[in-house]
Amino acid sequence: MPETPVETGGQRGYLRIATEEAFATTEQIALYRELLEEPGVDPGFQSLMGFYINSTAERPRFIFENLQDLGDRRIAEMDARGIDRQVIGITAPGTHVLDRDRAVALARNANDELAAACSTHPDRFTGMAACAPQDPLQAAAEIDRAVSELGLRAVVYNSHVQGEYLDDQRFWPILEAAEALDVPIYLHPNTPPADMIQPMLRAGLDGAIFGFGVETGMHALRIITSGALDRFPRLQIILGHMGEALPFWLYRLDYMHQATVKSGRYEAMRPLRRGAVSEYLRENFIITNSGVAWPDAIDFTQRVMGVERVMYAMDFPYQCPVEEVEELDRMDMPLDAKRAFFQTNAERVFGLAQPVDGGRA
Ligand code: MN
Repeated sequence: MPETPVETGGQRGYLRIATEEAFATTEQIALYRELLEEPGVDPGFQSLMGFYINSTAERPRFIFENLQDLGDRRIAEMDARGIDRQVIGITAPGTHVLDRDRAVALARNANDELAAACSTHPDRFTGMAACAPQDPLQAAAEIDRAVSELGLRAVVYNSHVQGEYLDDQRFWPILEAAEALDVPIYLHPNTPPADMIQPMLRAGLDGAIFGFGVETGMHALRIITSGALDRFPRLQIILGHMGEALPFWLYRLDYMHQATVKSGRYEAMRPLRRGAVSEYLRENFIITNSGVAWPDAIDFTQRVMGVERVMYAMDFPYQCPVEEVEELDRMDMPLDAKRAFFQTNAERVFGLAQPVDGGRA
């Protein structure tokens, strides 16, 4: 834990709401241990969880112990880093590597557990719902239960499900439920699927260093270019890690998307109602800076997306040095924009209705 705690409580004119924070249940870890023993295990899962579950090194131990705490220990770590509130979701790859029945049970139990912790600490925790996309209709029902009955405020979607993506209409009941309930989907990285990962795996680039971003950025693009957002125009999707680099790609995406549609080259890439890829990114996406405490990248993304669509995330417990909080506090940015970044965008996106000032006094 850092030695000099950063203040909480909005003394700088804003609260710090961290929006991509992770937890794991005991059941989840046990299921992952079982899965790692099974033949034909997904290579990305093997690479990621095979490492985190079994390593005795300091960083993986810190991560693993903190993932499994939704109580005083987590709050002490938040206090030490100046984090007023965490928006918490099940850690990668969530239910997505499991078979249907185990996935359904894990989502339900994880949502119950997270909702209980949020009820115990309503001023510190906000929860995002897991679901089991292996059964899309059941997933939609679980999202409805988690939001309507348990009070969770978003869906965390751990990217591909054994190589399948949300642009597949099979999964559209999930998009429909999120849109109807007016909750965002946090599209969180997974390791690349088996038919994408091999060249990255051989170079050690399959995880958070690069593979996560490539896989999840592509997932977001598939949702856009497939036309899914013409069917669900009000849906809001959150992307971490500075939008998985998509804001930086946007000029070329717009140019090449237009050229490709015009050429008729791919059946999967038909004209979009709103035309350009950038229209969808700016109207249906919100970007967080999880893992990227880099003022220049945040400034660029605010200019591309608008100040109201870029918000703060830490990525606890995977990446949480207190120096990153201090660096972002020092950003050369008007106080209103900084307050939007750290606090008020998250309050709007997750429907946090509590007063913004003095709520925790
Ligand atoms: Mn994360």
